[in-house]
Amino acid sequence: MQRYSDEIIDEVRQTNDIVDIISQYVHLKRSGRNFFGLCPFHNEKSPSFSVSPDRQIFHCFGCGVGGNVFTFLTKIEGINFIEAVQMLAERSNIQLPTLDNKADTAKELLKSKVYKVNEYAANYYHENLYKPESKIAQEYIKKRKLTNETLKSFKIGFSGKFDELYKELKKQGFEEKEILESGLVNRNERGQYIDRYRNRLMFPICDVRGKVIAFGGRVLDDSKPKYINSPENVVYSKGRQLFRAKRCKKR
Ligand SMILES: [Zn+2]
Repeated sequence: MQRYSDEIIDEVRQTNDIVDIISQYVHLKRSGRNFFGLCPFHNEKSPSFSVSPDRQIFHCFGCGVGGNVFTFLTKIEGINFIEAVQMLAERSNIQLPTLDNKADTAKELLKSKVYKVNEYAANYYHENLYKPESKIAQEYIKKRKLTNETLKSFKIGFSGKFDELYKELKKQGFEEKEILESGLVNRNERGQYIDRYRNRLMFPICDVRGKVIAFGGRVLDDSKPKYINSPENVVYSKGRQLFRAKRCKKR
């Protein structure tokens, strides 16, 4: 695999303070020169996870894990080193040279399409919520006293019937491959495409960059399961992201 130059990696590291980055996942408290918090990599009740702003490294005295900002991201996001560099470069607006590894490029392309599918779906569900045919959802919202501000800021939505989203995505020019990869639509044995979420209140789930990576869908009556979540895919890995994935909040 090709890699980025040491210079650019250094630049990305220097423009992303480790305390800022880790604070997005761990509640840190200053103590002397360092910061401490509960380790996100093992279970503990008292903080043995430390971050050094001077040295730009982290270390856990409980489980021994440690490293720099890239190490932290690869572990917590379940991504590889290159992806961690890309994630931070994007955060600090550093333009990276393109790496031309075919397999990587194809995966990256699929990823970026899935992000687009998710983004589109989040807006689609949200707008759907305000339509007259979504009365059942509007009543539920009233009952739960969710304000319009909350609905807007978390982009809460309502999923439609049978294959409404699928048809809409197709109309937008998305292809089967990326639609299926998003997990928002399934294909049955008869080759029919069916939306995964139907008649559910929809909660988009975002990563730290504010990109929609998954959805949670809640029923409005007593049917089971009460909640369903997106399956794992190229942009969403449950085990790693579960404790930090949050509802999308407009920033
Ligand atoms: Zn630990």
